[in-house]
Amino acid sequence: MRLSVIGAGYVGLVSGACFAELGHSVLCIDNNPAKIDAIRSGQMPIYEPGLDALVARNVAAGRLTFATGIDAAISDSAAVFIAVGTPSRFDGRAELTFVHAAVEACAPFLKAGAVVVNKSTVPIGTGDRVEEILATVRPELAVSVASNPEFLREGAAISDFMEPDRIVVGVEDDNARAVAEAIYAPLTAKGAPLLFTRRRTSEMIKYAANSFLATKLGFINEIADLCEHVGADVAEVAVGIGLDSRIGRKFLNAGPGFGGSCFPKDALALLNTANDVGAQMPILERVIHANDLRKRNIGRKILKALGGSVRGATIGVLGLAFKPETDDMREAPSIDIVASLDYWGAAIRAYDPAAMEQAKPKLPASVVYCDDPYACAEGADAIAIVTEWNEFRTLDLARLKAVMRRPVIVDMRNVLSAAEVEAQGFQYDSVGRPGRE
Ligand code: NAD
Repeated sequence: MRLSVIGAGYVGLVSGACFAELGHSVLCIDNNPAKIDAIRSGQMPIYEPGLDALVARNVAAGRLTFATGIDAAISDSAAVFIAVGTPSRFDGRAELTFVHAAVEACAPFLKAGAVVVNKSTVPIGTGDRVEEILATVRPELAVSVASNPEFLREGAAISDFMEPDRIVVGVEDDNARAVAEAIYAPLTAKGAPLLFTRRRTSEMIKYAANSFLATKLGFINEIADLCEHVGADVAEVAVGIGLDSRIGRKFLNAGPGFGGSCFPKDALALLNTANDVGAQMPILERVIHANDLRKRNIGRKILKALGGSVRGATIGVLGLAFKPETDDMREAPSIDIVASLDYWGAAIRAYDPAAMEQAKPKLPASVVYCDDPYACAEGADAIAIVTEWNEFRTLDLARLKAVMRRPVIVDMRNVLSAAEVEAQGFQYDSVGRPGRE
């Protein structure tokens, strides 16, 4: 089938390349020419494992092409996927101008029977607005509007797309349903569940899923804080409750607070939707508030580890991205942590395997970026592990200690073993686990 994807970011580029891998002929469009130039020359604009090879393979096979403008090239597409950003507005609602602009731009070129599919995460009712825009620009045209929220996780995006837990498609007519069935046939043939709902329900499923996961993280973080007071170990609590199949083991890792391009903005957007219609969501409201406070205050762990002050101290920050295997810095806890340390008078050295370039505009100019964890630890009074990259699980602790001024580790992701670290002579603090403070 011929498909177009508008927006070649984390979701658009991965989905476009994966649709091509499934055998479709895909045109990926992004209005950022630098991004398209980079992709065409084989440079991925984002760090996503396996993406470069996937794109290269499908470009070579002639199934994946790129463009910077929306024009007649989309007119043979059976479906046009909208995968542009929907960031938080100043008031916490989702910014929909990019979605609306993309729909307006493609409307003149759509063929009869085409399906415009919202893959972007959009507030409930956005599909109706998209339908209105299409009806205004092309009153004569019979097109369908569907919702197909994306559930891929950065860092595991390709396998998430190719082996999804489920595919959700919200439709209001049989044409959209038939086109979606055909597009995803290669995945459903391999057993991927395809769930059809009405469009508004599908839009709600995406927000409910992200808000639920955010709540799960908020809950385990709260348990972690209590563990610190009562001498329990949150990592073991997570296993102990997670083995209950009603609860599940995933998303129970305590840490510095959730970040990323989705959970904070989607939880806030859903809360705003509730406010706009006069509904109450007190649980979600508390989750958002508690997480904001957590991210702003978690740096105090480092303050405490160094006896109440970091003025004049050097702190090595290991990990900046909001999670491992990505370079995405949106809403990363490292931003709040580094800002606090800087404000309190610490000098900051930082290392991240993928996110340092993305981090630079978001962190104070005084941060010194290092080539590896040991360079980052050079002369440091404390190391803070902020992102759980695998390479931090196997640090050479003796080598680390040899270059540090003071052997202090604050492990905000619980990646190290307290016993091993303390046996090496470090002062060690983690999240929600007993240990020396
Ligand atoms: P992104 O910022 O990485 O990519 C969006 C792209 O759209 C950018 O490259 C931008 O240049 C392009 N764009 C904007 N307006 C355009 C236009 N009119 N024409 C052509 N291109 C245009 O964003 P993302 O992380 O891929 O997120 C996209 C959507 O998917 C958001 O709604 C997000 O909430 C949702 N989502 C993201 C993830 C994730 O892990 N990043 C997961 C699931 C859902």
